[in-house]
Amino acid sequence: MELKVLWLFDNLMDLYGDRGNIQVLKERCARRGIECTVDTYRLGDDKKCSDYDIVFMGGGADHEQNLLYEDLLGLKDDIAYSFEKGTQYLLICGGYQLFGQYYLDQDGIRLDGLGLYDYYTEATTDRNNRCIGNIAVEVTIDGETFKAVGFENHGGQTRNVDTPLGRTLSGHGNTADSGYEGFVTDNVIGTYMHGPLLPKNPRIADILIKRALRRKYGTDELAPLDDTLENKARNVMLKRLGVQPEG
Ligand code: GLN
Repeated sequence: MELKVLWLFDNLMDLYGDRGNIQVLKERCARRGIECTVDTYRLGDDKKCSDYDIVFMGGGADHEQNLLYEDLLGLKDDIAYSFEKGTQYLLICGGYQLFGQYYLDQDGIRLDGLGLYDYYTEATTDRNNRCIGNIAVEVTIDGETFKAVGFENHGGQTRNVDTPLGRTLSGHGNTADSGYEGFVTDNVIGTYMHGPLLPKNPRIADILIKRALRRKYGTDELAPLDDTLENKARNVMLKRLGVQPEG
């Protein structure tokens, strides 16, 4: 079995270890004998998201988002088509924001998003009021509910999210006080959790791999891996945040 991954704007959108998500996808596939090939897409490249099983886009500062958003808009039709084909997306922070209606930055500059979903993001005008720090979230995805941890750093406040990824247990999430974090559909996981997300929460990595395998091969059988260390590390962070650890 083979999964083809496309990493959008790898040289611009890679904050707080986001590239670790790619490493974990490769490693968790390799340990199960699944080939995982990773291509990158950079400004002006001629590659189609619809040719891939998983597409990943990390976070970036306003500056980087500004540099790439027009190029991203050029991919819109193919991305919409890839949704029909079942391509799976993992979007972190700045990447998550740009799949919505728009991102209005702290200086009042508005970047059009892909507009594929109803949510929109506006930066808080109070520069001291960014959402920064470790975060714990009760995630519900594909019928599984569990605790995830990450690190957030965003001025953007994302509103009008009808299907959040989870409930914020500590930290902020989509807005400073909405109580909800991220966005999830059948083929998109969007989140403010850097950290990076998948090394800290291998269960989400496996959900993503299963989703991709299911639509490509009609099976989502995955051999279990030993995540003792990852689970211990996550529990340390949950405790530090005053959240009941798991298992
Ligand atoms: N520039 C965006 C914000 O501050 C995204 C930041 C990020 O990706 N961490 O909201």
